[in-house]
Amino acid sequence: MKFIIRDDDVNYHYTVDQLSRWYSGIIDMCPISVCIPAFIKGDFFKWNRLAENHIPYSADEWLNDNTVYKLGDNYVLTAYLKRLLVQHKIGISMHGVSHRNDEMELEEVKHNYIRGAEFYTNRDYTRELYEAKSYLSELFGVEVCSFTPPQNMINIKGLNALKANNLSLCTDFLSLRNWDDCIKSYGIINYVKLCYYKLKKEQYPYVFHHHRMGFVRHCRLQPGRDIGAIKQELNSVYKNNGIFVLSTHSYGFDFKMESYNMTMKEALLDIIKYSKQFDNVEYTTLHDIFKKK
Ligand SMILES: [Zn+2]
Repeated sequence: MKFIIRDDDVNYHYTVDQLSRWYSGIIDMCPISVCIPAFIKGDFFKWNRLAENHIPYSADEWLNDNTVYKLGDNYVLTAYLKRLLVQHKIGISMHGVSHRNDEMELEEVKHNYIRGAEFYTNRDYTRELYEAKSYLSELFGVEVCSFTPPQNMINIKGLNALKANNLSLCTDFLSLRNWDDCIKSYGIINYVKLCYYKLKKEQYPYVFHHHRMGFVRHCRLQPGRDIGAIKQELNSVYKNNGIFVLSTHSYGFDFKMESYNMTMKEALLDIIKYSKQFDNVEYTTLHDIFKKK
């Protein structure tokens, strides 16, 4: 089995102090796939805090806070990430471009923040994605090849921009009932494979490819999750010798788990330790499973 930790949102506004504290104790056991919005728009921690706490805010104020912050302009953070990359303690992935969707005509999606769902879009992001991918690839000296969509939301239009940029995708798979979009996105053979696993009441545990683009699903670690259920999913992926991607947010590592007397970081450490009891677990990154050999 391959085991991957996906850390979404790392951007210009993070500090080395924060990240080194959050990553300490983890990156020695498992590298982290750092998923970066290269050109974050606005004050990330401010808007994130309001969204996480469901605090109402003025749409105009949000729209006006549209300064673009390039990751590489935070020299200290970039140098830290480069050091970790050389030590194989992280892999580099993309997480949108600006992590912002200002198509105000799109309706809010229940339990999600559509305003962050940049790739759930009516726009063609091929060019923006190309620029952000080239920028990150140059900054870190690797050909970035993997992408996680902000809010795990992506539609056909968003997917086409990824395809045009040779980027593979880690996200939730589309609902299989939505067969038309599934076949368009994944191809008929992969759709049949996904249905077969659905009938077995299992999640499809491998990477599949369509139009040279790789796809893999993920399991969420959030404060509200049942750790037992995460371990059960891990067991099922292990049984199939598949790929277990645990997605999380390091900015939430100090948050309390809702049903446990532990922080989310402690929950993550518990799950990594649980995985260590199995033989033949390879701790790797999204970049490594998707890179062209
Ligand atoms: Zn995000």
